[in-house]
Amino acid sequence: MKQETLDAMWGAISKNKEPFVDFLYRKAKILGKDKLEWYDLSASTQTDKKKLSYDEGAEFILKHFEQFSPKMASFSKRAFEEAWIEAEDRPGKRPGGFCTGFPLSQQSRIFMTYSGSMSNVATLAHELGHAFHSFALKDIHPLNRRYAMNVAETASTFAEMIVADASVKEANSDEQKIALLEDKLQRSVAFFMNIHSRFLFETRFYEERKNGFVPASRLNELTDQAQREAYHDAVNSTSPSYWSNKLHFHITGVPFYNFPYTFGYLFSLSIYAKALEEGTNYEDQYMALLRDTAVMSVEDLAMKHLGEDITKESFWEKGIELCKNDVKEYLSLTE
Ligand SMILES: [Zn+2]
Repeated sequence: MKQETLDAMWGAISKNKEPFVDFLYRKAKILGKDKLEWYDLSASTQTDKKKLSYDEGAEFILKHFEQFSPKMASFSKRAFEEAWIEAEDRPGKRPGGFCTGFPLSQQSRIFMTYSGSMSNVATLAHELGHAFHSFALKDIHPLNRRYAMNVAETASTFAEMIVADASVKEANSDEQKIALLEDKLQRSVAFFMNIHSRFLFETRFYEERKNGFVPASRLNELTDQAQREAYHDAVNSTSPSYWSNKLHFHITGVPFYNFPYTFGYLFSLSIYAKALEEGTNYEDQYMALLRDTAVMSVEDLAMKHLGEDITKESFWEKGIELCKNDVKEYLSLTE
């Protein structure tokens, strides 16, 4: 990808942070504070949360995938029926999700801990999205299947979005709806603010490192500054030692292993917006885009399959606009 594309993405995000700042202040108010502390960022304000058993979660996913892509639904049905997913919630097992593909058998396996929350259902959909990306690539030459990180989260985020959006629409009460919107907005805050702080930190760190060793105390300062800036000072405290425990900073072979998440999120939001317009007709175009993810630059990919120039801020603003709608709904429900 081009530097211009990255600059356009952060440019659009930086200009559109205000609604997410409003969300953080509203959340603080609900929690009885003026400003959130760092550890409040991931806290929930609601206790009435919808729960689904694993089978109900699977049914929910299949039903909603079907409305966008019958092929994605039937593929996922196979993953459920043939037990490709290890989802048991047992003591000592980590939360989170992981998907890996087996090119020869053309199958995938998913490892996750399913405890019944709607965010688990979204994670399961996310991992099925990764598996579907491998499925879409199965007839492509193996050398042309290794897509770069910036598009690695396209299929997963798209799948997750379908389920997260549907769960907000099908919430049984205002409290549940607020909780689900909070989950969605938490994700926007992570991609637009947290990941932005990591990008600012890394950029400045690499600059200082050119002049020699950068001690821990200085890394703390750089982190604190980057977090305050990226969150527009909407947090009372920061996490200065964040650099020490976030794995991505320590993968030396891949500098800037952070912004691809934000890129993937906004890129797939624009695919989602197109799919919402075109319904199941969009399926074949979507799969054609996935098949091209490892053979062209992202600029060419977006131009060919979405007709969009992603070196322009206006492209990125469209995705951000969808997230701003979540803020509007959240603010009015919590009035
Ligand atoms: Zn993923």
